[in-house]
Amino acid sequence: MIAPLPGPAPLRRRVSAALVLQPSLWPELVEAPRLTPSDYLRLRRVAARLSIAEAADRLVDSRADHRRAVAFLRRLETPGRTALYRSTIAHLLRAFPFDPDVYWQLAEEPPHRHPRICRGCGCSAHDRCGDGEGGACRWVEQDRCSACSRGGRTCA
Ligand SMILES: [Zn+2]
Ligand SMILES: [Zn+2]
Repeated sequence: MIAPLPGPAPLRRRVSAALVLQPSLWPELVEAPRLTPSDYLRLRRVAARLSIAEAADRLVDSRADHRRAVAFLRRLETPGRTALYRSTIAHLLRAFPFDPDVYWQLAEEPPHRHPRICRGCGCSAHDRCGDGEGGACRWVEQDRCSACSRGGRTCA
């Protein structure tokens, strides 16, 4: 008999397939990378057809503050960055439409509690695109709205 080599014991405990396949047990396995708060702001700005400089124009009253506003927007759109204060995000509503609640849910809630968001334009339940006929977009896929699926988008 040869003595077993020291080392980590092999994992013998098997988890049943039925348990592994429970969706509630794999919240990290959502399709596509998770949308971050910075992604969300960028999607909504682009959907409003604004460059960072144009969005910055709407945030400040004087030309002198423009550069600071550009830096502020760039920071908020940097992957991994999240605003510290509610007031910061509320102020951004001067620049383009989005839903601050969605921003904070992405920032603070676990993935399985994130709201449904269009990957094309960032629209969500309380922040829909127009359909060009006075109505709102609808979901055509889990993460795509009817405005985006047509190719030409009517969001903004
Ligand atoms: Zn969309
Ligand atoms: Zn939409």
